[in-house]
Amino acid sequence: LTDRLTSVFDGLTGRGALSEKDVSAAMREIRVALLEADVALPVVKDFIAKVKKEAVGEAVIKSITPGQMIIKIVHDALVEMLGGEDSDPSLRIDSPPSVIMMAGLQGSGKTTTTGKLAKRLKEKDRKKVLLASLDTRRPAAMDQLAVLAGQVGVESLPIIKGQLATDIAKRALQAAKLQGFDVVILDTAGRTTLDEQMMAEAEEVAKIANPSETLLVADALTGQDAVETAKRFNERLPLTGLVLTRMDGDGRGGAALSMRAVTGLPIKFLGVGEKLDGLDVFAAKRVAGRILGRGDIVSLVEKAGEQMDAEKAERLAKKMSKGQFDLDDFAEQLRQLQKMGGLGGIMGMMPGAKKAKQAMAGANMDDKVIKRQEAIISSMTKKERAKPALLNASRRRRIAAGAGVHVSEVNKVLKMHQQMATMMKKMGKGGMKGMMNALGG
Ligand code: GDP
Ligand code: MG
Repeated sequence: LTDRLTSVFDGLTGRGALSEKDVSAAMREIRVALLEADVALPVVKDFIAKVKKEAVGEAVIKSITPGQMIIKIVHDALVEMLGGEDSDPSLRIDSPPSVIMMAGLQGSGKTTTTGKLAKRLKEKDRKKVLLASLDTRRPAAMDQLAVLAGQVGVESLPIIKGQLATDIAKRALQAAKLQGFDVVILDTAGRTTLDEQMMAEAEEVAKIANPSETLLVADALTGQDAVETAKRFNERLPLTGLVLTRMDGDGRGGAALSMRAVTGLPIKFLGVGEKLDGLDVFAAKRVAGRILGRGDIVSLVEKAGEQMDAEKAERLAKKMSKGQFDLDDFAEQLRQLQKMGGLGGIMGMMPGAKKAKQAMAGANMDDKVIKRQEAIISSMTKKERAKPALLNASRRRRIAAGAGVHVSEVNKVLKMHQQMATMMKKMGKGGMKGMMNALGG
């Protein structure tokens, strides 16, 4: 974030919940930051609208400033929009020969990325790789790929001048089949602008080669054009992923967000240099920090997150010791359970909880059940969640109708909450040991 931005954020002093005014002021600056990072305008607008809605009314954690709180919310939303924290760089490899097709505008880095992927597939995945250039328009393009193949130590399809791209694709598949290659990477021709002939040719090649991965390679510095490029390629080709090149440059990489937003495709890799080892697995957190233009954002956000967790835990502990474990807390626990991979996950981590686990399994506590329980709790009013004693028969009927379940389901949730509250009370007194006793007995 720019200095100006930081000062705006430091100026937000409201306490309690984030106000509409504070959020709006901050969002104006976030908007500028995103545009400066070259995120496309329509994507910026959508993003701001979404985050604004999320942020207004959000409780401000005591130990961080409202500005930090908003930055955390913005950062988390960016990470989410970029594909979440655990993005998967693995390429789909079908029964050999599996085809990877590279598409993109001329100069975007297709040929270079082809070499880098070949190196990765060979060294990391131990695959036998064949490279084939379908770039019939630039005389030097085929030689460029052959040279790269030599540097990586993989084979490239012998060059026959004057063949059509589609014929080269067929020949590559044939050769791969006969010679037992695991993966064929087809490096296609690009043009400097989007044009019909290029698209038609690429489409034709995709039909013939039936690729298991079709990667759109795009220059991270393309900025506002990224949206149009991504849209057009995505309309014509069965794209499966994105590669953003020149992330080693000065650009802030806003194109990553734009392209991901319009295609919904995963960003798989980032090109970070001209050399063959200049290929990084995409990491949403890193790119989010870069788009916001703040190297320290990750540590800042982590700190904020830790403090939020700590405060939540503290609040819960206080409530527990007072025997005030309400239905909101119960819902929060259900969410935590889901985060930790369902009950199997959390129970599995606790020694001696076998009995409880069996009991829970008997109660059929899988993810679907947890979701339903959450739905039931969210059909209650705020007052009811805070004071479950209010829940008489008619209220229970109303809630059941709201959540689309039978009243007995509502009763079950309330009973579970009761049990958990009792358990929490013991735990509040006796710590871990208390909890174990509660669970075991
Ligand atoms: P193509 O036309 O799409 O095949 O693009 P090329 O692979 O030939 O790349 C065009 C130029 O961009 C070459 O000079 C590459 O060395 C350079 N290039 C490709 N990827 C990267 C990257 O990640 N970082 C940098 N700095 N340069 C790159
Ligand atoms: Mg090329």
